[in-house]
Formats: sequence, C-alpha cells, structure tokens
Amino acid sequence: RFKAIWITKTEGEKKQNPPEIREIGLDDLMDGDVTVRVEHSTVNYKDGLAITGKSPVLRRFPMIPGIDFTGEVVASDSVDFETGDKVILNGWGVGETHMGGYAGYARVKSEWLVPRPSDLTGFEAMTIGTAGYTAMLSVIALERHGITPERGPVLVTGAAGGVGSVAVAVLARLGYEVMASTGRPQEADYLHELGATTIVERAELQGAARPLAKERWAGAIDTVGSETLANVLSMTSYGGAVAACGLAGGMDLPASVGPFILRGVSLLGIDSVMAPRRLRIEAYDRLVRDLERERLTRISTTIGFDEIIGKAEEILAGQVRGRLVVDMG
Ligand code: NAP
Repeated sequence: RFKAIWITKTEGEKKQNPPEIREIGLDDLMDGDVTVRVEHSTVNYKDGLAITGKSPVLRRFPMIPGIDFTGEVVASDSVDFETGDKVILNGWGVGETHMGGYAGYARVKSEWLVPRPSDLTGFEAMTIGTAGYTAMLSVIALERHGITPERGPVLVTGAAGGVGSVAVAVLARLGYEVMASTGRPQEADYLHELGATTIVERAELQGAARPLAKERWAGAIDTVGSETLANVLSMTSYGGAVAACGLAGGMDLPASVGPFILRGVSLLGIDSVMAPRRLRIEAYDRLVRDLERERLTRISTTIGFDEIIGKAEEILAGQVRGRLVVDMG
C-alpha cells in the first residue's frame, strides 16, 4: 500500500471536501496501460487550485491531484514502454479528471507519457514540470513569430513564479534582453541572477490599459492575464507578439483592439495540457539544450510529500519563488 492525497466530494454539496492523506492500493487507481512508481512530482498554480478547490479544476471524485510526475515504469501493457523505463507526465487532464501524481504509484495511458531524456534526472525533470515546459512552449511560439534577440527586449510577467522563472532563464540564455515584471521587489536579485536585465514593477502594468502606450518590448510572455495582459499588449512594439499562458491575475482580458490593428501586434495562445506529443518532445529537447542545469537548482525548492497540501495556499497567494519539486521519498 502507498500514500496518496485523496479528495472526495459529498453528493449534493457544491464544494469538494478538504484533502486527506490516505493509504491506498493499486486497485484504487483508474484504468491505464502503464503503471509508474512516482519518484518526483511538483506543485504548480493549477495544483494549488485543485487542492484548495478555489477553482473547479477537479472534474471527477474521488481524485488524486498532481498534474506532473516522473518515475519508473513498473508494469506495462504498451509496446512503447517496458518495466524500468524512466518517464515524464505533464497534463493531459491527469490530476484533474484522471488520478494524478500525488501518490506512490500512478496508472495512466501510455500515449500521455514521454520518455525522460537520459541526461535529465527525475529532480531536474520536475524542476521543469508543466511550468517549465509551458515557458518553453511560449518561447517557441515567440520564435515562430520571428521575435529574435535583435528585435528588442522581451518581457516576462509573474517573473518570480514557476513559469516566469524558467522563461527568464531560457530567454537570457538564448541572448534576449529580458525585462522581468514582479510584485515582489525582494526577488530582484534572484531575477537578475537568472538573467533579467531590467525589473518592471507589477504596479506599472496594473490599472485600466490605454489602447496604445509607449512601445517598450518586442515580445512578452504573460502568466498573469487580466489588466496586466491588456497593458502588456498596449506597450508591445510594432509587429511584436505576446504569448499568453496564465491567469494568476484573473481570467478576463479588458483590452482594446488598438495594438492589433494599429501596431500589428499578435496574441499567441499557449496550452500545455493537450499539446501534441511531438511539440512536448521538442520542448523537452530545447529545455535540455537551452536551460543551464545550475539554474534549475537555483530556481527550485525541494519539499516532501507531507508538505504539498500546505504549499497549495502559498502558491495561490503568489508566495512561492520559482519551482517546488516534491521528492516522493
Ligand atoms: P506561480 O509559481 O504561482 O507564478 C505566478 C506568479 O504570478 C506569481 O509568482 C506572481 O509573480 C504573479 N502573480 C500572482 N498573483 C498575481 C496577481 N494577482 N497579479 C499579478 N501577478 C500575480 O504559478 P505557475 O505555476 O508559474 O503558473 C503561472 C500561471 O500560468 C498560472 O495562472 C497557471 O495557471 C498558468 N499556467 C498555464 C499553463 C498553460 O498550459 N497555459 C501551464 C502552466 C501554468 P511575482 O511575485 O513575480 O509578481
């Protein structure tokens, strides 16, 4: 038997019950053709929403949250994986509609798994996690739009968070001038160490956005949404692009079409959950190449299984720096 974070919902109640830690067996898991012994997991913003129930992330009960995990295959009915293979899982509704990574074992569909690159440890893979791979998807989207370092600076919002930290580190390594927006001035040194050249105060990007404002960056990766994204768009220079991947500040977008029709600015949507396998493999290949290992350690804090629930509130309050890696012990 093994430990799992277990969330139930009482029939007729609107809200899910508070999370419990339970001892369960393999029979309690859902169907899938591959069973994995989970070695490491992570805590993302979405995991915070799932554990606390602040947003209806969980769509089936009982549920084990945890949208990311890595570990070793212990049983496989798939021709693609054998016992002993090291694998990574990010998204696909795992930890939302299918039992996820906060358990000693997970049973999932083989098509959701990617092989862990041989030169990436489990710890490193989870330092990346959904947050890091989403940051890379955002960088790839900007590149495809022709945003090269020569075009001008790139802004990252929510920079001291998980997606933001990886985005800053990767962009800096690729030679971009990185502007990092944060609401935590005490994290300025951390962001400079990751490679940011300029710190932009969060407040500068809050409040109602003007249709157009002074052009400040050629591209941006936005993890915040709402008024912040509207302001970011209004300050993007002619022909630039903004990759929108988050909603830490809200799901709305009170913007005008000014940046699109007067400056040819593009808004690029980023989704990691259902991203096709080939794009995931490309993102991991790029992360292995373009993210310095020493930076991975700098942006991550390791926690134990019993600390996951406590960190859920902290991540929603924007108090977590960089990435949280769970060592499942
Ligand atoms: P995180 O570590 O909590 O980072 C979010 C950061 O946003 C915080 O650290 C904070 O950065 C900033 N922030 C928080 N509340 C804010 C507010 N009210 N106004 C302005 N800024 C605020 O979370 P994460 O795991 O990196 O995820 C970031 C966002 O991306 C989340 O919304 C998440 O759901 C989304 N996401 C989307 C995908 C996708 O597939 N599209 C994948 C992964 C994550 P500072 O303290 O530096 O300001």
